[in-house]
Amino acid sequence: MVKPFQFSSIPRIYFKCGSLSLLPALIKTYGNSVILVTSKQSFIDSVYATSLFQKFKDDGIKYQTVIIENEPSPEVIDQNVNKLKKELFDAVVGIGGGSILDAGKAISAMMYKDDSVLGYLEGVGTKEHPGTKLPFIAVPTTSGTGSEATKNAVISRVGKDGFKRSLRHDNFVPNIAVVDPELTLSCPPAITAASGMDCFTQLTEAYLSDKSNEYTDTLAIEGLKAIKASLVASVINGQDLEARTDMSFAALTSGICLANAGLGVVHGFASSIGGRYNIPHGVICGTLMSVSNELTVRKLRQKPDNQLALKKYAFLGKLFLNEEGKNDDHYIDGFVDHLHDLTNTLKLTGLKELGIKEDDLMDIAMNTECKNNPVKLDNEELLEILKARFI
Ligand code: NAD
Repeated sequence: MVKPFQFSSIPRIYFKCGSLSLLPALIKTYGNSVILVTSKQSFIDSVYATSLFQKFKDDGIKYQTVIIENEPSPEVIDQNVNKLKKELFDAVVGIGGGSILDAGKAISAMMYKDDSVLGYLEGVGTKEHPGTKLPFIAVPTTSGTGSEATKNAVISRVGKDGFKRSLRHDNFVPNIAVVDPELTLSCPPAITAASGMDCFTQLTEAYLSDKSNEYTDTLAIEGLKAIKASLVASVINGQDLEARTDMSFAALTSGICLANAGLGVVHGFASSIGGRYNIPHGVICGTLMSVSNELTVRKLRQKPDNQLALKKYAFLGKLFLNEEGKNDDHYIDGFVDHLHDLTNTLKLTGLKELGIKEDDLMDIAMNTECKNNPVKLDNEELLEILKARFI
């Protein structure tokens, strides 16, 4: 029987190589004046920027550029919103990786507010955002976060008392997502691997989530097929447009899945580590994916009422292993082995090499939420995961 579920809206999606050329006409549906949130590395320095800006000029589109170079902090959002509020704009456009899309999403959400974004962040502030915003068009240039389809913007303050938390509202799902895989061709291998592992984690965690449903499962499986076909290929040869297109599809799909099914313990670590250390989000997810799943499987096997989640793990094994006629345990272990192999193939950096201090591991474990992981892990198990990747 189909279990009850809720499914949020998704953006109007334009998924096509070359779809960036649609942007001016899409902006015109809102007006002639936009805030353009982007960065040099992701877009301004690319071959696509000159022709887009010329088209803006030809079409009479005025744009105020906001450059964001890192994962956005509350201060960066507040400072920009305070400056931008002096003028009237019809929409916000974000062209870049997840950091840019989240910054654009947060700016669009704060343009009608007079206070700091801090007060609306989950687990940090206590205020409820009413969901008012300027229309937001998301144009991803990495294949990872799926922010082009999610209802949250991740905002971080890095440091000892730091945090990495979301501004979230159903209305914050972008109005339009223009997904042009060609924009990801310039991503270097390390960024391709990190963002690819982020979306692999998101699809896996949403599929295994205790909040997953028939719709999210169906989508997650299609996204995972694209990961299987093209994650490693896109890292090995960044100019492989077919692989890049698969990865853009996987990322977009991971966003839709996470917005509706939630995430698991790897993303719990991404918050607790990401608030404390300046380490890219996808790098944290990638390095912890294999061991987190190994521990989750071990704990699921301890109780007989976890059969549904274990069946799902077996399905993932069947999907990734290309082996017929084996039993569920073989596929479950095979999936975990596949994750370990991927960690080696992509040369994912360990926590020690990333600069994490051994003294911090227990504190990180104690501040990590299991989110919608199919089984809750205790602090000792969370610590075990961290120690296993402390290389
Ligand atoms: P990113 O946006 O931080 O970009 C990483 C680096 O890649 C940057 O230096 C950027 O300039 C560069 N870059 C981006 N596109 C490029 C391109 N086409 N060519 C060359 N360089 C390029 O990385 P990301 O992984 O896309 O985003 C991470 C952020 O997204 C984190 O803050 C994370 O918390 C957040 N996130 C948000 C959601 C959500 O649902 N809103 C989900 C997951 C993660």
